[in-house]
Amino acid sequence: MKALGPIPPGYAMIDGQLAIAGRTVSDLVAEAGSTPLFVYSAQHVRRRVEALRAAMPQRLALHFAVKANPFGPILSLMNELVDGFDIASGGELALVRAAGIDPGRISFAGPGKTDAELRAAVAAGVTLNLESEGEAERALAIAAEAGGTPKLAVRVNPDFDLKGSGMKMGGGAKPFGVDAERVPDLVRRIIAAGAEWCGFHIFAGSQSLDNDAIIDAHAETLRLAARLADQSGAALPKCNLGGGFGIPYFPGDEPIDLPQIGARLAEQFSVLPPSLADTRFCIELGRYLVGEAGIYLTRIVDRKVSHGETYLIVDGGLHHQLAASGNFGTVVRRNYPVAIATRYDAPVAEAANVVGCLCTPLDRLADKAGFPQAAVGDLVAVFCAGAYGASASPAQFLGHGPAAEMLT
Ligand SMILES: *Cc1c(COP(=O)(O)O)cnc(C)c1O
Repeated sequence: MKALGPIPPGYAMIDGQLAIAGRTVSDLVAEAGSTPLFVYSAQHVRRRVEALRAAMPQRLALHFAVKANPFGPILSLMNELVDGFDIASGGELALVRAAGIDPGRISFAGPGKTDAELRAAVAAGVTLNLESEGEAERALAIAAEAGGTPKLAVRVNPDFDLKGSGMKMGGGAKPFGVDAERVPDLVRRIIAAGAEWCGFHIFAGSQSLDNDAIIDAHAETLRLAARLADQSGAALPKCNLGGGFGIPYFPGDEPIDLPQIGARLAEQFSVLPPSLADTRFCIELGRYLVGEAGIYLTRIVDRKVSHGETYLIVDGGLHHQLAASGNFGTVVRRNYPVAIATRYDAPVAEAANVVGCLCTPLDRLADKAGFPQAAVGDLVAVFCAGAYGASASPAQFLGHGPAAEMLT
């Protein structure tokens, strides 16, 4: 039998079933009217934000990386809870604006911004995290044409990376940001052109569970920001320190030590060089804010045996849960936390594969894992589904369409 990932804290059991916010999964599915279904817990998100506020220095603002979960009710909830929003497309700009989020709290990163996206962002008063000199020139030209003052920041391609991170976003040749040594010239150009200079965006990586690596990345980011601010000859209004706080997905993964990371960042803030003395800092988090707050519920439609192996076949799959199937940025497939949600208290009785309904061998949600004896009609829960689930899976593949989503 292969191990399953750790079930995140904060879930309960009622009448033998997995429960969220005091309601059983059967109850939630009945309200939604169908499976597959993503359920996100507002209480879980609130607790996570509270923990971050308690652990991190007060000077550090908290941003939500929208790409992790752009579901409208999640954006509205976040509008109460966080200080800013980081978007990466014109489509996300439309979603955050539809959720009533103040454009003054939005920054827009991402390579390949089209003229239309730049125009919409400049018109709305969104901060652009510029990914290249070419994009800077296009943004300045578009703003000049429209007669406004664009809010411009520079995304820096750092000369280091976040060690132990699932997705490296810095260190060496990258499509993201401007290589550090060319940043001072670009800053001077932006200021000379009369734009509002907004500062640096330095994102070194994602999904790290290594406390020391995160602490080191913070220190290196602050060093780099100070050096580039000095070389640019301009005060640094803001600095986005990136994020990269990971969550446990797989067997053996341990959560990060938030109080330790916060305490070390506070120490670093207490000895900032003069060039950063008045800088406002933020971090941008996606999965750490919402990943563990979501589950994906899918119903068993068939149960079969092939060459001695049991298959529990569900009505969902990788078209909603690409990451849990092991096909989104992982090298070796390992099991996410998965449970038979309607037999949450039953003991392990067999090894089974949970597979989706797509006609491809890639569609596997759990591999040879220990489960209670499950039957057609039971609900399966895939945990850690609050980030990069619905928004990062090929919902059109094989024509089953998107899953329902619910915030409770
Ligand atoms: C994806 C992304 C994030 C969020 O990453 P998480 O691992 O979900 O926290 C933050 N910033 C940038 C620039 C990103 O591309």
